[in-house]
Amino acid sequence: MPEALKIRVAKDAGFCFGVRDAIEKAREIASEHGKVYMLGDIVHNERVVSQLEQDNIKVVDTLDEVSEAPVLFRAHGTIPEIWEAAAEKNLDIVDATCPLVHEIHDEIKKLHAEDRKLLIIGDHGHDEVVAIQAQVPKAFVISSVDEAEALPRMKKAGVVSQSTQMIENVQDIIGVLSMKIFDLRFVNTVCFPTRRNQAQIKELAPLSDVMIIVGSYTSANTKRLHEVSLTMNPRSYMVEGASDIDAAWFENAESVGVSAGASSPDDLIEEVVEHLKNINVQTRV
Ligand code: SF4
Repeated sequence: MPEALKIRVAKDAGFCFGVRDAIEKAREIASEHGKVYMLGDIVHNERVVSQLEQDNIKVVDTLDEVSEAPVLFRAHGTIPEIWEAAAEKNLDIVDATCPLVHEIHDEIKKLHAEDRKLLIIGDHGHDEVVAIQAQVPKAFVISSVDEAEALPRMKKAGVVSQSTQMIENVQDIIGVLSMKIFDLRFVNTVCFPTRRNQAQIKELAPLSDVMIIVGSYTSANTKRLHEVSLTMNPRSYMVEGASDIDAAWFENAESVGVSAGASSPDDLIEEVVEHLKNINVQTRV
């Protein structure tokens, strides 16, 4: 009988403190007031959002849908126009913006005050990036080395990054920018839970025959962790849950490493681990 498949789970896989705190805050407010509105998803994970809805946390797309209960602004940050509109309507605002996202907003404002051209390394159209961009009159978003190479030369510029960017992508882009910008100030705003997650995956991926990254397909953070894993282990797969796992991935595998995006709840990770234990039995006995 073959030995059991060895399953290793990255130590800090799953919710970062920013997401954990935001979800706790939403639950507290809902139990205090009977209901809380949430403007957009608090995190990019459909399962978390549907669980929150069961706890009287109602997801809305616009402030027009909010009445007689506090409205919670999510972890990724919210554009100033919406803060102003909510204040004008006298809504009870609960700020669940991650403190590290607030820091990015502060940093880009400081760079603006230094009269620099402003660049954000991040994904075009991502909520967090849109909110960072909205803190200053004008900032350009660049997502890749190619986009950095297409930029004109500049005399004085400041750069921040989306909190969940891949460190290597940021370093490569900064390498290109440093050749084009005479006075470049880069504030590395990739957050420490993201760096820690990426570092743990880099440690785990070479030790594992197969890597599983758990998270929503709409989560930029999870996609990025999957990319990090793929650079170290081609047998890396991204799954939204246990049902996405294909037993064929584990042919001749003796070990599997598991990690997850910052918006993946603990119970989802546990479910995947339990499923992996069963796959081992079914495929290898
Ligand atoms: S990924 Fe980082 S910045 Fe985003 S919510 Fe989590 S801790 Fe905050």
